[in-house]
Amino acid sequence: MRQLFLLLFALLITACTAPTVATVVREAPVEFIILQLNDVYEIAPLEGGKAGGLARVATVRQELLRENPYVITMLAGDFLSPSFLGTMKFENEAGEREKIAGLQMVETLNAMGLDYATFGNHEFDIKDRALLEKRLAQSDFQYTVCNATAVVDGRERAFMQGNKPVPEYLIHEIPVANGAPLRLGLLGVVLPFNQINYVKYTDVTESFRSTLKQLQPVSDLAVAITHLNVDEDEALAADVPGVPLFVGGHDHSQLSRYVERTVIAKADANAKTVYIHRISHDRNSGKTSISSTIRKIDDTIADEPATKAVVDKWLARAFTVMEDMGFEPRREVAEIDEPLVCKESLIRTSQTNYGRLTMDAIAAAMPGADVYFINSGTMRLDDNIFNVVTEYDILRTYPFGGKLVRIELPGEVLERALQTGIRDNLGEGGYLQYKNVNPSDLAVNGEVIDPGKNYSVVLPEFVAKGYEANLEFLGDHYDGTNEEMLTVDGKPLRNDIRDVVIWYMGR
Ligand SMILES: [Zn+2]
Repeated sequence: MRQLFLLLFALLITACTAPTVATVVREAPVEFIILQLNDVYEIAPLEGGKAGGLARVATVRQELLRENPYVITMLAGDFLSPSFLGTMKFENEAGEREKIAGLQMVETLNAMGLDYATFGNHEFDIKDRALLEKRLAQSDFQYTVCNATAVVDGRERAFMQGNKPVPEYLIHEIPVANGAPLRLGLLGVVLPFNQINYVKYTDVTESFRSTLKQLQPVSDLAVAITHLNVDEDEALAADVPGVPLFVGGHDHSQLSRYVERTVIAKADANAKTVYIHRISHDRNSGKTSISSTIRKIDDTIADEPATKAVVDKWLARAFTVMEDMGFEPRREVAEIDEPLVCKESLIRTSQTNYGRLTMDAIAAAMPGADVYFINSGTMRLDDNIFNVVTEYDILRTYPFGGKLVRIELPGEVLERALQTGIRDNLGEGGYLQYKNVNPSDLAVNGEVIDPGKNYSVVLPEFVAKGYEANLEFLGDHYDGTNEEMLTVDGKPLRNDIRDVVIWYMGR
C-alpha cells in the first residue's frame, strides 16, 4: 500500500512538473488468457468417463471468458490422428464413402471454440494430402507452422486452409481501451518426425529464428505453439530467446520448464488436464508476466451442451459400428493399478507392460508355439491407459485389429526376423513385441537358435503375409491358412487380436 501511494505520488509529481506531457497517460498492462491443450485423440472422456472430454474443456473456456473476455484457445498439435474413429468411413456430402480421418475432432474443436493450432507429427498420418487439406478447410480455427510445407507434384508450397495458405506466423489482436490493439504474434513449429512424401521440413531452429525476426517488428509480443520433444523445446528456447511462452505438445504428461525467460508448458494428453496461462503485458516496459495453472478435466465439470451434442453424434456413429462388429465399447473389462504403456516412443523401442500383456494374451489363446511376436505398429494408441480399461480402450489400441496365424519357420529365417524386428526396426512400426525371446542374444526359450531346426511361430497375419517393412521375406513361409476361431476356456473366440486381449484381460 505504501509503495502504491509512493508510486501515485511520483506520478502526480511528474505530471505537475512536466506540463508539456500532461496529456500522456501511461497505458495499463494488457491482460488476456491462453487456454492450452495438446495431443488430443479422444473427443469424449476416458477412464470410464472420469477423465478428459472436450465438452468439459468448452465449459472451462466459458468460465474463463466470464473472467476475461480475451481468452485465446490453442492446441499444440496431434489431434487429427490416431484414433479408432478416425480409421472408420462415413458418407460425405457428395454421397461418397470417406475416411473420417479427424473430422470428428475438427467438428468438436469448432464447437468447443478452438482458435489456433499447429501441426503435430500425427497430422501427417493422413496419407492423402488432399484429405488433410480438406480437414484444414473444415476447421474454424487457424493453423500456423513455420517449418513445414507441402510438396505437390514435385513443387513446394504452403499447406492450404481453404483458399488461404497456412502462414508461418499470424497476429492476433487484443482490443485495448483508448489505444491501439495489442498485437500478439503466434508462430508454430513441428518436429520433423513423420517423413511422409508430401511434407518438406526445414530446420526447426533456423525457421523459428527467421520467422521470429519477421514477426517481432509487427507485434508487441510473441507466443510459440511448439510440437517438439521437451529437450528440443529447451534447446530452442536457449538458442532463440525472446518468446515468453511455448505452448508445447508431443510429450503427453504435464510439465513446465523455464529456460532463458521462456516458460515451456505441456498439459496431459487427451485433455485430462489443460493449462491456463493468465498473461499480462506492459507495453511501456515491454515486460510480460505469466501465471500458469494446470486444471484437471474430470467429472466434476459439466459438459457444455453444444460441444457435447457434436461429441455424442460422432460417438453414436462409432459405437454403432463397433457394436455391429460384435463389441461392447462401454463395457469395463478390467481395473488396473499401473498404467498400460503404449506411448509410441516407448512401444516402438522397448517391450512395455502393455506389449507384454498382449503377448501373454496371444500365448494364452494360442498355446504351444516356440515364439510369439507382433509388430508394434499394431498398437496405435500413442498414449497410456489408466485406472479403468473399457472395450473401447482396447479397440483404440488396436484400431486395425487382425488375425493371428501359426507358421513354421526354419531357424535361420526366425533369427533373421528377430534380428530385423528387434534391432533394425528400432523406432519403427515394424519393431517387435515378443515372447520367449531374449532380446540381447535372440535365444529362444533359453537356447541359441538352431539354423537347421523348424520353429513354430504365432504372429499377425499382416506380418506373415510379408506386409511389414523389412520383414517382407516372411511372406515366403506363409501358405494362407489360419484358424478363423480359437477355443478358450472350452468356448469359441473370434481370431482377432482385439477379441484375444479383451478375453484375456477380462478373465
Ligand atoms: Zn507428437
